[in-house]
Amino acid sequence: MKCVEKVSEVREMVEEFRSKRQRVAFVPTMGALHAGHVSLVSLAREKSDSVILSIFVNPAQFNSPNDLESYPRTLEDDLKKAEAAGVDLVFAPSVQELYPKGYRAESRAPFSTRILAGDRSLGLCGETRPGHFDGVVTVVGLLFNIIQPDTAVFGEKDYQQLQVIQQMVRELHFPVEIVSGPIVRDEDGLALSSRNLLLSPEERFHALYIPRTLQHAQEMVLEGERRVSYLKEIIFDNLEKSGGLKVDYVEIVHAETLASIEVIEKEARLLVAAFSGDVRLIDNVSLSVR
Ligand code: AMP
Repeated sequence: MKCVEKVSEVREMVEEFRSKRQRVAFVPTMGALHAGHVSLVSLAREKSDSVILSIFVNPAQFNSPNDLESYPRTLEDDLKKAEAAGVDLVFAPSVQELYPKGYRAESRAPFSTRILAGDRSLGLCGETRPGHFDGVVTVVGLLFNIIQPDTAVFGEKDYQQLQVIQQMVRELHFPVEIVSGPIVRDEDGLALSSRNLLLSPEERFHALYIPRTLQHAQEMVLEGERRVSYLKEIIFDNLEKSGGLKVDYVEIVHAETLASIEVIEKEARLLVAAFSGDVRLIDNVSLSVR
């Protein structure tokens, strides 16, 4: 496995893969790799001959300087995990390499050309993290243009991000197939996240209320509850009951468009964001009617 930092180097490598008529799959990450990322590499492997994984903590998608600064960076360890997972090439550029003219988290007064996310970025994380998805689609578009993969793999863990990227790819006609992978969880149910490294044992204990509450909601829907506002109330109360969580949002939306709904007809998506201490965690599940 090779690791490169320059756009020109990654382009050379892609050209080499292409000269051997290999299909290229791409897995974008911000590093601090865990089994969730590894599952996406396995999906990428199934779809292609060569797998490129990027590691880039994208400053343009952070709207809190503290969050950006405290985001875990574990490159050496990541390279070992990437190699063991069967990655062929890691692209780990510097901020200067991807944004030579600088970046801004807010979409007003940008330094460089950028992409604005479509309407799936409204609400949910888009509401509480203004500009976040513009930063996401900008870096993903940039990486797609550099690598030009046949396939790119994203996790359902960041469910809104997945839908926003699907929208971007469709509307801007990126010739990339988007593949999604299910959420990988720890044995106790907590969705794996690089941010889990920042949780104290007590914060982690409180965080477990998130998957438990989501599962409870799934069961309520299976047992016949369809009313979105009632479900949201129960979920909110259960999360707050943990004593250590501060709920950012609880939403039940159309599974694809993320539009608001009042009643669950067939299938919907329940998405939650909550702080355990200073760590913002997100999780989601499918709600389906039996
Ligand atoms: P991140 O490094 O957090 O930006 O995530 C990189 C990719 O890994 C995104 O497509 C995420 O949705 C995906 N991902 C993160 N956590 C998980 C998980 N627990 N299970 C599956 N995919 C994940």
